[in-house]
Amino acid sequence: MDTKVEQFLQEQFHQFSQIDVRELVFSSELHKYCERNACGKYNTNWMCPPGIGDLKPLITKYLSFAKGYLFNLVITLSDVFNYEEMEQGRKIMEAKLKTLQKQLKSVPHAIFGAGGCSLCPSCTYPLSTCRKPGEATPSLEAVGIDVYQLASKAGLKYYHGPSTVTYFAMVLL
Ligand code: SF4
Repeated sequence: MDTKVEQFLQEQFHQFSQIDVRELVFSSELHKYCERNACGKYNTNWMCPPGIGDLKPLITKYLSFAKGYLFNLVITLSDVFNYEEMEQGRKIMEAKLKTLQKQLKSVPHAIFGAGGCSLCPSCTYPLSTCRKPGEATPSLEAVGIDVYQLASKAGLKYYHGPSTVTYFAMVLL
């Protein structure tokens, strides 16, 4: 499976790097930062705070995985403030993560994307339970990961020049 995943990451993303799961840092401060609602997703999704729940049991779960990969997708914009193209880029990332998720259906895994979970056309939060708890994907930030630091540690470029946006995601196996 690892070879298949690496092949997929190689083909579909700009860069990827294997990471040491035991060295992942989950910051409760960053997790709490979501309360500022800079992305507008706070309290709207089971995979965003506060719906995602306490960080502690999540960390225990994530650290039980043996292997991880961080990867990125670089989107070139026609101009630096083109939010429509940024959103299109985020959707491309989401579609690729859904494909990865399908490939991993038979093995335990956790995927972390850019933005709240978008597996369903509309999230059930907070009226009823998550439709796909085993597949729902939080963002890296929602679980307190400092993406800039992790990218540096993994040797992945965070910035790819003016008029670009770089989306990061991670998979644990
Ligand atoms: S799988 Fe569906 S219900 Fe669950 S968090 Fe994602 S969008 Fe919401």
